[in-house]
Amino acid sequence: MKDFLKPRIVISKCIEFDTCRYNGQMISSDFVEKLKSFLEFIPVCPEFEIGLGVPRDPIRVISLGGNLRLIQPKTEKDVTKDMVDFSNSFLDKLSDLDGFILKSKSPSCGIKDVKVHAGGGIPPKDPKGPGFFGKAVLEKYPNLAIEDEGRLLNSRIKQHFLTKIYSLRRFREVKKTMSKKDLVEYQSYNKLLFGAYSQKETKELGRIVANMDKYPMEKIFQNYESHLYTLFDKPPKCPLI
Ligand code: SF4
Repeated sequence: MKDFLKPRIVISKCIEFDTCRYNGQMISSDFVEKLKSFLEFIPVCPEFEIGLGVPRDPIRVISLGGNLRLIQPKTEKDVTKDMVDFSNSFLDKLSDLDGFILKSKSPSCGIKDVKVHAGGGIPPKDPKGPGFFGKAVLEKYPNLAIEDEGRLLNSRIKQHFLTKIYSLRRFREVKKTMSKKDLVEYQSYNKLLFGAYSQKETKELGRIVANMDKYPMEKIFQNYESHLYTLFDKPPKCPLI
């Protein structure tokens, strides 16, 4: 049996970790609570980190002159630059990650479906989109498992998320070794699982492993990783169990 490796997941701190929402509350999630022993969580509250206290007046994504701004309407404070700077510096400092669980619909943490409010009476081009921290995550880590707690209520999405983070976590370990033997073992251990996702990508991964003697190991791993990300880009067509 394989030794157990905990995936590293960044999570919105207000989900089961702290009462840091604008109203001083926390979001409860049975799923996250159950996972606490099985994952390494890195909780973060971007709004708290940029100096907005708890409780605080809510902030909004507002379309102004064609640009999206992050504004606290009650105080008219524009925190766009603070949030962009914090997001970039926080994400740049991280490494060895497997995924993110972010708060749905938050103007900071949301990854989609965040309401964009009209500024100056002009309707926004897109009425919904990601929040500012969520957008930075999607741009910097497009290949990792990124979900919000709302979408994770769907069993198919949840199953895909868990499969992806554990597969990526194991691959990170194999990649550290740059060993042909470990990559062959990883491929053969996961072959059936990969086949359920994509026959095409499984064949491609098999082809890379079968031709390892022809290229430097660094190139082999890069190519393998890129096809692994493609394979896990979407949930499998049929449920895994
Ligand atoms: S959604 Fe993000 S910014 Fe808002 S309270 Fe939760 S962690 Fe903080």
